[in-house]
Amino acid sequence: NLILEGKVAVISGAASPRGIGLATARMFAKYGAKVVILDLDEKASAEAAASIGPEHRGFGCNVADLDSCKSAAERAIAEFGKIDILINNAGITQPVKTQEIDPVSWERILDVNLRGVLYLSQAFLPQMKKQKAGSIVCMSSVSAQRGGGILGGPHYSAAKAGVLGLAKAMARELGPDNIRVNCVAPGLIQTDISAGKITEDKKAEIAASVPLCRLGFADDVAAAYLYLASDLSAYVTGHCLDVNGGMHI
Ligand code: NAD
Repeated sequence: NLILEGKVAVISGAASPRGIGLATARMFAKYGAKVVILDLDEKASAEAAASIGPEHRGFGCNVADLDSCKSAAERAIAEFGKIDILINNAGITQPVKTQEIDPVSWERILDVNLRGVLYLSQAFLPQMKKQKAGSIVCMSSVSAQRGGGILGGPHYSAAKAGVLGLAKAMARELGPDNIRVNCVAPGLIQTDISAGKITEDKKAEIAASVPLCRLGFADDVAAAYLYLASDLSAYVTGHCLDVNGGMHI
């Protein structure tokens, strides 16, 4: 029995070829889900979905824009008739120091990483409430727990820490509707978000400081999403699952 058989899963930020989102979409499809990829570009989203199989869909969506989230939700629900799983994965980073954060970059980082989680959840919650079932998993980061450091600046840490609070509050509020809300908090995962921003020497140095002695793969995070999205975690809500090789022990 496939653990996501019959489930419909929406994943944001999943068009990037080497990203955590697309790895998650592929893994969810492998375990039986029908997948909806939401990313900034309509064509790239559709192509990413088609690369997994003809039964999957991809739509353009800017998670920082409520109308864009609502219209993506309408399209996804019109297509599949329901939504079982929402993975709030979209995110951006900017490696700067405190004094370098200007109002524009503060807004950009907070808008996508934090406001985007609220807006996309708001767009899908009416349907989940109607169904009296749903699982939402949100992307935080070890940067939230350790106070940043590797990729993101302090505004990124603030946004990802905000995600933890938002997810816990939603978990508490939505439990009676049988909607679970959890987070994953990865360490350094090798994707395009870090490409070109960290030297190979720096990566080797970070890997050596991790108890499991390596950086993470996108599939390491996809597997954590899979557990929290599926019924295997039916009695888990408001939790944050570390996927960091022991970086934060
Ligand atoms: P990535 O850059 O490959 O993927 C991010 C995706 O989000 C891209 O496809 C991008 O187009 C999309 N996106 C950006 N802004 C968007 C918006 N406004 N609306 C919709 N989509 C948008 O990076 P990734 O490493 O796969 O990152 C996925 C998530 O994991 C992010 O939230 C990131 O902050 C988080 N994360 C990554 C790491 C890491 O080391 N790679 C560690 C901890 C957390």
